[in-house]
Amino acid sequence: NILVEQTDPEIFAAIQAENARQEQHIELIASENYASPAVMAAQGSQLTNKYAEGYPGRRYYGGCEHVDVAEQLAIDRVKTIFGAEAANVQAHCGASANEAVFLAFLKPGDTIMGMSLAEGGHLTHGMALNMSGKWFNVVSYGLNDKEEIDYDAMERKAHETRPKLIIAGASAYSLRIDFERFAKVAKAVGAIFMVDIAHYAGLVAAGVYPNPVPHADIVTSTTHKSLRGPRGGIILMKAEHEKAINSAIFPGLQGGPLMHVIAAKAVAFKEAMSPEFKTYQQQVVKNAQIVADTLTQRGLRIVSGRTESHVMLVDLRAKGITGKEAEAVLGSAHMTINKNAIPNDPEKPMVTSGVRIGTPAMTTRGFKDEEARATAHLIADVLDNPRDAATLEAVRAKVHALTSRFPVYR
Ligand code: PLP
Repeated sequence: NILVEQTDPEIFAAIQAENARQEQHIELIASENYASPAVMAAQGSQLTNKYAEGYPGRRYYGGCEHVDVAEQLAIDRVKTIFGAEAANVQAHCGASANEAVFLAFLKPGDTIMGMSLAEGGHLTHGMALNMSGKWFNVVSYGLNDKEEIDYDAMERKAHETRPKLIIAGASAYSLRIDFERFAKVAKAVGAIFMVDIAHYAGLVAAGVYPNPVPHADIVTSTTHKSLRGPRGGIILMKAEHEKAINSAIFPGLQGGPLMHVIAAKAVAFKEAMSPEFKTYQQQVVKNAQIVADTLTQRGLRIVSGRTESHVMLVDLRAKGITGKEAEAVLGSAHMTINKNAIPNDPEKPMVTSGVRIGTPAMTTRGFKDEEARATAHLIADVLDNPRDAATLEAVRAKVHALTSRFPVYR
């Protein structure tokens, strides 16, 4: 960072300010985490300089012998963690991992089925403005009256519409997903079955959330959310799909792989194989349950009634505050959160009636039961008195007292 300061003081100032924000605020965005210094060091290494189009041992550039080692380590480790037959670690992000699956198996106009964005799905699973929604005929499934995935309706729709690809996975769904049930439906209708575990990957790696790999043709993920690696994507697959997926990533979608990021993925995978990582993920789920229970006691409603993962959606309507306002006031009390539509949300997507809360980041900095409970009370204090400056001031002070006891990067 000293070098950045000398070369570019403006960027240095932005990095310093962001660093301070990450240290001082409680990070509650479910898709964020704090990568380890080792992951960040690999990502900031000389590997950023290397072109390596192709795959280990089969490159279009010379001088790839050392980056080959890094990529092979990443592939071998991620296959071991998830029990996958094959893996591609070159996807630049979660969205491009999903696009590679579409490119490998679909033609424009084909029918795909995914969870609707409004009920917890991701925009790459068929949202109208996304490539997945523009190029394919999208059939969506959602939640039943209990706000659980409506498996019966999903099965019925799959038989009616015969999609070529069925996608399971979500960005805002707190419960365990029955991957086996999806797999049976996909098999019955002759669809490729893809699961996007971007949100749950760290939990799956630690065995605290069901692993879809035995049931799915393809499993995509990001590496930067609960898995706590660098920003990026991965694709796990049955060996029979390896050729199609690898050529969809390169030369289908991407040029040179980001070798520094792939090295950082390998470091993160090594960390994810440690006993500490399992303990960490167990605490992530425990903290989420404590936050959900505490918010419920304070008069808020958790969508689907509970959480079985790292994430929950909170229905704010009992407090007479929108998601947009909650995001702003919690932010001013130094708790970072995102507004999120709840099922059948009466508000517009930019306003919403809910917020999404996740525990991976707070748990990385060391928050355990007591701190998770304290955080939930601070959230509820703000939501009870969102327009009271004294409350916001008092909560901010309590947030700082907590965060200063748990520095992220010492
Ligand atoms: N899939 C799911 C389920 C996600 O939640 C996300 C990120 O929000 C993505 C894919 C996309 O990942 P990225 O932002 O790396 O493209």
